[in-house]
Amino acid sequence: MSEVMTCTPKHLPRSQWVAAAQAARSINPVNHPALHGLRAIDPAFKPTAERIAVVTTKYWRTNGVRLTVGFLDNPPADLRKRIISHMNAWSKCGNISFTESRSQPQVRIARMDGDQGGFWSYVGTDILSIDPDQPTMNLQGFTMNTPESEFHRVVRHETGHTLGCPHEHMRGELVDLIDVQKAISFFGATQGWSEEEVRQQVLTPLEEHSILGTEHTDQTSIMCYQLPGSITKSGQPIIGGLDIDRTDCEFIGKIYPTAVAPSPGTRKKPGKSPSTSPSKSPSKSTARGAKKKPSKSKSRGSKRKARPKKKR
Ligand SMILES: [Zn+2]
Repeated sequence: MSEVMTCTPKHLPRSQWVAAAQAARSINPVNHPALHGLRAIDPAFKPTAERIAVVTTKYWRTNGVRLTVGFLDNPPADLRKRIISHMNAWSKCGNISFTESRSQPQVRIARMDGDQGGFWSYVGTDILSIDPDQPTMNLQGFTMNTPESEFHRVVRHETGHTLGCPHEHMRGELVDLIDVQKAISFFGATQGWSEEEVRQQVLTPLEEHSILGTEHTDQTSIMCYQLPGSITKSGQPIIGGLDIDRTDCEFIGKIYPTAVAPSPGTRKKPGKSPSTSPSKSPSKSTARGAKKKPSKSKSRGSKRKARPKKKR
């Protein structure tokens, strides 16, 4: 690999947006967007089915995520085990588990190159809309020789998408590194985004999104945007966070709370999986959390429930 590869998020074809959003809302009602909030920000917002679909989140149900994982190109057992152990790094943070299965696995991992190559995953419940013989995640070129740091950076990041997390918006200092025209053509080609969508999704710094109430500025989040060097002014890629950090962990713990909060050390199996603990930066842990109510499990009857803050 000459250049560090970065993640290009994968979206369903437009024809599936509305149905997939309906599925997401039936799986977890918190996925429904807060329309009154959107109208407050953008009075011109027209709540058509498609517009609502675009802003619908794709989290799994709050009472725990149990997903089966299969591999489409028959990698060796040690590699399968290693990948799944890194996916399960998230289980330190919330009620989450991934287990290997050869029978109709929900998460399907490929290592394709070419047109479908690179690193990507569909987001959350969208994986249910993918044909059963098609991958939901791609880890191009991963072998047992891949550095351990890449398992942390890439496998955990893509698994974050599988858990329903989109990319974090970027801080202004990172946005400044992007070549605007290259970004517009890149995301037009890879995502089918219009110029306006690219400006909104990628070129608008987090600071300007603060009106949405996303007050956190977690620049080391594992879910930071990753951008290829081909669209930065310097030619250097933006590789994003290198591991699940404390804020990531707290966030996912609110979406998928464990019945009993895991106390450090009691659930760990030493030697089993490589350092599954979230890394460093205690200073960032306070920004969120304080005011945000955990999206408690199924308070189905209660009218307006706390909605997990979108990580974007
Ligand atoms: Zn990504």
